Amino acid sequence: MSKKILVATKNKHKLIEITKLLKGLDITFKCLADYPEAPEVIEDKETFIENAAKKAIEYSKFSGLPALADDSGLEVDVLDAEPGVHSARYAGEEQDDDKNIAKLLDALSDVPQEKRTARFKCLVVLAQADNVLVTAEGTCEGTITFKPAGEYGFGYDPIFIPKGYDKTFAELGSEIKDTISHRAIAFNKMAEIMTKKSFL
Ligand code: IMP
Repeated sequence: MSKKILVATKNKHKLIEITKLLKGLDITFKCLADYPEAPEVIEDKETFIENAAKKAIEYSKFSGLPALADDSGLEVDVLDAEPGVHSARYAGEEQDDDKNIAKLLDALSDVPQEKRTARFKCLVVLAQADNVLVTAEGTCEGTITFKPAGEYGFGYDPIFIPKGYDKTFAELGSEIKDTISHRAIAFNKMAEIMTKKSFL
C-alpha cells in the first residue's frame, strides 16, 4: 500500500501545483480539506524555513501523518527583500492579491526597469511529528512589471516576469510555470531526495 502524506496548505492554487509536481511518486496525498477540524497555524517566524518547519511539524502532530509544508514569497531587491515572509499579507490581514499587487507597484512607482529585480523563493519541509526529515529550497529570479498582465496563477503572478522570458507568470500559464518556478524547483528536489532516501 502506498504511503500517506499530508500536504499542509490551505491555498488551493498551491495544492494543485504541488500535487502535480509530486505525481510521479507512489504516495497517497491527503490535504487539509480532509481535516476540517485542523487548527490554523500562524506563520509568525522571520524566515521561510522556520515558517515551513512550524507548519509541517504542527500538522504532522495533528494528523499523525508525515506532513509536507512550504513557505514562499517574493523578495524585491530595491525593497531590501520585502515583502518576503510578509508576501501574503503585504497590504493587510485579508490577504488580498489585488491589494498586494497595488501596494507593491506603488512602492516601485519611481524605480526604473533595470532596478526592478526580484525573486520568488520557496522552502519546503517534510516532517514527522517533531522531526524535520527533509528540507529543499527553490528560487526563481525575475523582474517586476509596471502593470499587471495575464489571467493565470495567483498572488504576484501578474507582475512577475521570470528571467529569460518576456511575459508574466500569469500570461505564461501553468505549463511553463510548473517547469521553472521556485515551487517546481523546491518540490522536484524534495521528490528526488525522498526517492533516494527510500522514504517511500
Ligand atoms: P504562503 O507561502 O502561503 O505564506 O504565501 C506566500 C505568498 O507569497 C502568497 O500568498 C503569494 O502572495 C506569494 N507567492 C508565493 N508563491 C507565489 C507564486 O507562485 N506566484 C505568485 N505569488 C506567490
